[in-house]
Amino acid sequence: MKVCAARCSSYHYPEIEAAVNEVFSEFGGIGAFIKPGERVLIKPNMLEGLPPERAVTTHPEVVRAVVRHVKKAGAIPLVGDSPGTGNTERVAGRCGIAQVCQEEGIELLPFAEAKDYSYPEGRTIKRFTLARELSEVDKVISVAKMKTHSFMGITGGIKNLFGFNVATTKAQYHLRMQKRDDFAAMLTDLALFIKPVFFLVDGVVGMEGNGPRNGKPKKAGVILGGDNGFAVDMVMTKMMGFEADKMPVARTALAWGVVAPLKEIDVTGSGKDLTFNFTPPDNIESLDGRIPSFLVRIFQNQFTARPVMNNNCTGCGRCARHCPPKAIKIENRRAVVDYEKCIRCYCCQELCPANAVELKEGFLMRLFSRKK
Ligand code: SF4
Ligand code: SF4
Repeated sequence: MKVCAARCSSYHYPEIEAAVNEVFSEFGGIGAFIKPGERVLIKPNMLEGLPPERAVTTHPEVVRAVVRHVKKAGAIPLVGDSPGTGNTERVAGRCGIAQVCQEEGIELLPFAEAKDYSYPEGRTIKRFTLARELSEVDKVISVAKMKTHSFMGITGGIKNLFGFNVATTKAQYHLRMQKRDDFAAMLTDLALFIKPVFFLVDGVVGMEGNGPRNGKPKKAGVILGGDNGFAVDMVMTKMMGFEADKMPVARTALAWGVVAPLKEIDVTGSGKDLTFNFTPPDNIESLDGRIPSFLVRIFQNQFTARPVMNNNCTGCGRCARHCPPKAIKIENRRAVVDYEKCIRCYCCQELCPANAVELKEGFLMRLFSRKK
């Protein structure tokens, strides 16, 4: 199992092109994964329509480099996603990816229509409801962003695939998989079902702190890639300065034997020795697996951090619209959470445009938490 990390100090196109080329070359070139004439869906992270310098979305020049590689291999590149909020065309326009599609003369797929996919081999999910476009392409390449994530610890190549769920179905997964480890198992099944042929991660400028939306941009100067997304994410996590095998998806992938332990992954490339000190999200500490599950269920409120709205709240209502169990009401121009209904999915923190959602640990969580 191999991961390549290529140094890349800026989004100046020739540098991006060289780094992406270094990564693919390490695996024998993109031609080892796609054939001429195939329709190849490039899946960037387009969480929200924010400018590239906010580091919320995959940088458009990284998408351009992958598009050109796919073209050079004689295949047909397409770009698609279902953003966390907002319509795909508008989001792609704001984050610069629509312009790349236009300039490169390729199609932007909005993932508006869902379709059922049977997956009998799934360990947690036997049937996914995903974008129709997935059934109309031959190959998928995940082109993610290196970011922290309040719920999953980090987001890279694997979590990026959650965007294959069209808008309304995302909340359903949060309702069904409320514990971190259950959600991570669903993501693991999802990645094994979609099976992208390659995973690239844009870490030229990543995000630290309260990602995936409200953290701070952090320059890392690296592009990572490989054909096993779990391995790419584990190497990325270690580079960020976190314990790679403690992240919920990595824990699941290791337990299922679909990724090798970190020490057995061959890390190559000009950036293989890079390490950073990313600030973790407020809620990176998870007690999953360390406390008997019946106790966690009984004392759910005390074993998980709860979202608390600070004075930045403008009462815009976006959190209320996206809260899976409808636990948020807007009262007197302020979001108010019903903690009896709240499932601690942190979608509100992820999507709040005003960075108004803080995560406060419960008493028992503080008591058991290693970081205190
Ligand atoms: S918490 Fe954020 S998303 Fe929710 S109403 Fe306030 S400003 Fe809007
Ligand atoms: S209030 Fe926030 S954390 Fe709680 S269920 Fe709603 S979106 Fe999830």
